[in-house]
Amino acid sequence: MRRSRALKFIIAVALVTAIGPVLAAIYLAQQQGLAAEFDRVISYARSVAARSDRAVDQMQEAIDSLIAENTGDSCSDTMLNQMRQLGISMEFMKVVGAVSGESMICSTLGLHGDGLALGPPDSITPTGSRLRLNAPMPLSSQTPYISIERDGFIAMAHRSQAVDLVVDQEGVLFATFDPASGELRTSSGDVDPQWMSAVDDLPEAAFISNGFIVGVVRSEQVAQTAAIAAIPARYLGERVWTFIWVLLPIGLATAAILTGSVIYVARMQVSLPVQIRQGLRQNEFYLEYQPVVDLRTRQWVGAEALVRWRRKDGRIMQPDEFIPVAEHSGLIGLLTEKVIELASRDMVATLRNNPDFFLTLNLSAKDLQTGKTLDSLMTMVQGSGVKGGQIVVELTERMLVDASAAKSVIAAMRNQGIRVAIDDFGTGYCSLSYLETMQFDCLKIDRLFVEAIDTEAATNRVVLHIIKMARTLNLKLIAEGVETEAQARYLSEHDVEYAQGWLFSKAIAPSELIAKLS
Ligand code: C2E
Ligand code: CA
Ligand code: CA
Repeated sequence: MRRSRALKFIIAVALVTAIGPVLAAIYLAQQQGLAAEFDRVISYARSVAARSDRAVDQMQEAIDSLIAENTGDSCSDTMLNQMRQLGISMEFMKVVGAVSGESMICSTLGLHGDGLALGPPDSITPTGSRLRLNAPMPLSSQTPYISIERDGFIAMAHRSQAVDLVVDQEGVLFATFDPASGELRTSSGDVDPQWMSAVDDLPEAAFISNGFIVGVVRSEQVAQTAAIAAIPARYLGERVWTFIWVLLPIGLATAAILTGSVIYVARMQVSLPVQIRQGLRQNEFYLEYQPVVDLRTRQWVGAEALVRWRRKDGRIMQPDEFIPVAEHSGLIGLLTEKVIELASRDMVATLRNNPDFFLTLNLSAKDLQTGKTLDSLMTMVQGSGVKGGQIVVELTERMLVDASAAKSVIAAMRNQGIRVAIDDFGTGYCSLSYLETMQFDCLKIDRLFVEAIDTEAATNRVVLHIIKMARTLNLKLIAEGVETEAQARYLSEHDVEYAQGWLFSKAIAPSELIAKLS
């Protein structure tokens, strides 16, 4: 039952890792495609606005130069000449002329006799320019013109000039409009009137509407003009595909790596207990010993047994990889038995010859639920000439939370003289009450707090609290993971008795330890 649930869980995780990155790639491609098309349509709309601005600038410039030139007769030969010059030299502006009433009396095209009726203006700007969206033109009645009139002069440009943009896509619409009135000025196709309200209080906007990707931009120079560009929405699909071609392979590769890893880890988890059992039978486990030094003398006064697993293929597996599996699969009891057996074989003679030297062994929570571990330890001690006090068992705070069974086993161990140390102190539940209610001999200060000693980390004061507490409870201290001389000096100055760590020695083979001690 538990197994089938685990299998379901693994399948679920594998599915997520397989599908997740692919969906993420598609989603990203869509977002990127949309962003790219929005950028494009906004840049089109900006070009339209810029062209419209340029046309207006040129018309105003032409009117300015005529006003400056005017000496009274606005249709004199000099003025007509000037008008012709302006008509030729400007890119957007086509016609300039002089106005009387609502008629154009002369222009780039010469005198207009009785005048050419212009009709009333469509709007008047705050600066007094009179705009006509459909100025009549004498020579080309089909081409709609837009005009600006000011101080008796008028300038005209092709209405479609601003929106006469050539772009790569087909069916793109361009338009200009008056954002104040929402009135369309020029357009190259059917513009949805709703689009014009998009920039009510924004300089620009991009959105999808009515089958188009739409960009709307307010002109920077002339507040009364805004421009629209609209690209048919089908181009979005094309753009998204260009991103999918790039992102999907990355998504697929990520999915393959993740799913492969999940399956690999899952297979390891499923088959590992079987392999641990085999490894125990075939003596693939062995111990290394990390020396514990007296911080005052730097002498090796003890050692911690750390288990290793040499697999059939020669690979060495670290305890962090298999201890949790052994704990979950109910094999930890057998493994602890093996560790005690190996420690006896390696160390009994050395412990007997060095009666002040101690050996620490790591136990797991299950080891405290029966008296079996204690029996094995007693077998190691009894009749071997090793004193109970030379054996130290390391327990973690977590193992003591469910303390009822543990309590009596711990008491029994201490009755036999075996000493008890709290490992990784400060990283577990840290309920101080059990420190007072249960009897221990030793605290091991976790590497985390030793690491923090010569840093600015928030944990760098914790060591001092642990030391103070240990003093109050009359416990000996072993600092773990000492890597620098500064850490060792600090700990020594604060009267920490023992330390282990790479500064002094890594875990070593028993032969090396024994050689050093004899
Ligand atoms: P632990 O009891 O906290 O063991 C200390 C770990 O820190 C060891 O890793 C050791 O190699 C490493 N270490 C020692 N000095 C330094 C140092 O200066 N710097 C750094 N960065 N690391 C240092 P290891 O051997 O991989 O053991 C990992 C854990 O596996 C142990 O943590 C212990 O919880 C567990 N373990 C090891 N052997 C046994 C065992 O026989 N039985 C049980 N139940 N657990 C064991
Ligand atoms: Ca330990
Ligand atoms: Ca530890």
